[in-house]
Amino acid sequence: MIKRMAGKITAHIGGHHGSGKDQLGATGLHPVVSLAGIPETTVLTGLSSLDHRESISTERTSASVGDAMDVDGTGTVEAPRFPPRAARPKGAYKLKDFNIERTLGTGSFGRVHLVQSLHNMRFYAIKVLNKERIVKMKQIEHTNNEMRMLESVQHPFIINLWGSFQDTSNLYMVMDFVPGGELFTLLRRSNRFPDPVAKFYAAEVALALNHLHQLNIIYRDLKPENILLNSDGHIKIADFGFAKLCTTTTWTLCGTPDYLAPEIVSQQRYNKSVDWYALGVLIFEMLAGLPPYHQPEPNHIELYEKIMRGPKHIKWPLAFPENATDLIYRLMESDPSRRFGNLRQGAGDVFTHQWFKEVDWTRLAARDIPAPYIPRIARDGDASAFDKYPEDNVAASYGLPTVDSYGMAFPDFEYTNPQP
Ligand code: AMP
Repeated sequence: MIKRMAGKITAHIGGHHGSGKDQLGATGLHPVVSLAGIPETTVLTGLSSLDHRESISTERTSASVGDAMDVDGTGTVEAPRFPPRAARPKGAYKLKDFNIERTLGTGSFGRVHLVQSLHNMRFYAIKVLNKERIVKMKQIEHTNNEMRMLESVQHPFIINLWGSFQDTSNLYMVMDFVPGGELFTLLRRSNRFPDPVAKFYAAEVALALNHLHQLNIIYRDLKPENILLNSDGHIKIADFGFAKLCTTTTWTLCGTPDYLAPEIVSQQRYNKSVDWYALGVLIFEMLAGLPPYHQPEPNHIELYEKIMRGPKHIKWPLAFPENATDLIYRLMESDPSRRFGNLRQGAGDVFTHQWFKEVDWTRLAARDIPAPYIPRIARDGDASAFDKYPEDNVAASYGLPTVDSYGMAFPDFEYTNPQP
């Protein structure tokens, strides 16, 4: 069963590829924690531990609110309900408004560029996605969801989307540039975080997840690679490629293997609680330096077997904080009906857990708690916290007129460049 499932999950998309040590060396980040005292089970082993992990998805996608209706598998039919669009003016952007600079990250459909507006000279990040590649990998629905979900969300710990557009070849999403780089880079450079540092980031993530869930959005791809650090050190969650509006349950296989809840692995229907499970994995990874079921040589079948066996089989590092262990058990609970975040008190059980007892949630939400690490940003548009990627002059091809076979598939991305 696990083997069959592992075969079904095709390497995807949305993920981006790092090449390990060399890239980390280029970031200029400095460790906040030393290696000393890390039990052997948690010491990084091999370059694979340092690489970005790819997000995966089956080609099949479940019916979504983008479709006429969403059948929940119990015969109930649910009418689509998008959250209201955020009350901010939607800019009408076009490619010619920006000077395209270096690449900040890459994925299977395209890349994210640092850009500078020619109007206000401010820096932004533009995600460029190739329509043909999206269609070939059957990710139309996920891509439309990404834009719709981001458009409907405004939160201090979530990336801000200013607008979107398309031309004959590509889709473009204009976002704030988040200059501090990925939490992933900071974590791998630091090896692991001390308890208060892990708690700070986990608490900000918990607030962001709770906000998404209140809007009935499941995020589905929590991992340190998708958590960016702003110039003030606070988090911004990026990459809404798998985010989905869902009031009941859904079943698409997607996420990042280390972070998949057992019900996703076993192809059951699942709900928002998969994000709380992933928070448990994230807390473990921040405190231990590696995810709970890490293997030096990645093997998805073995990984999925371990996920199915549950957190009792995790090899816990020595001297792991007791309260954190308890919270991780409760978040990584295999039975979603007993999982923290998914009980009667909802996120309240997470917020009031002993591990978070010193967190002042009101001040945290107001970004009033100083961040444990302030990225070194030399000037506006300084992207030195990001890995370097070969540019291959790819930006020169943006905006060139081509045959447009797929424009109809992405109706919410306006044509603001010369019409096809
Ligand atoms: P994504 O495909 O959305 O995961 O983006 C790929 C990578 O590009 C991310 O992991 C970040 O390293 C980078 N990135 C994405 N969005 C932004 C942003 N708004 N500001 C800075 N970097 C970003």
